[in-house]
Amino acid sequence: MRLNDLRVSLHFSLREFECPCCHRVRLHPLLLVRLEELREAWGRPLLLTSGYRCDPHNARVGGVPKSAHRLGLAADVAVPGEDQEAFVLAAADAHFHRILPHCDRGYVHLAVDAGAS
Ligand SMILES: [Zn+2]
Ligand SMILES: [Zn+2]
Repeated sequence: MRLNDLRVSLHFSLREFECPCCHRVRLHPLLLVRLEELREAWGRPLLLTSGYRCDPHNARVGGVPKSAHRLGLAADVAVPGEDQEAFVLAAADAHFHRILPHCDRGYVHLAVDAGAS
């Protein structure tokens, strides 16, 4: 076992959300609840390509300075371009506050708003 090797919900481990450079992690419970809801509706595993990002990592990958990834409020999910339209609808049904498809890059950015619920 290693750091963050911990199941935090039915389908996700804390490790999937950690920053790849420093293994630090912040995860808002609301993000996890929404992802589980989406996982159930989508019916297939969700591969996270980015969860929490520390400031240096966020800068390296070209994230905006106020990125929700820095706060544990966002995750990017690998989705093939041809499935993104259906995935975006499923994410809207799962009540994500921000859904940004990146068809050409094969992922969808999902974020929750901690101020809402
Ligand atoms: Zn880092
Ligand atoms: Zn993102």
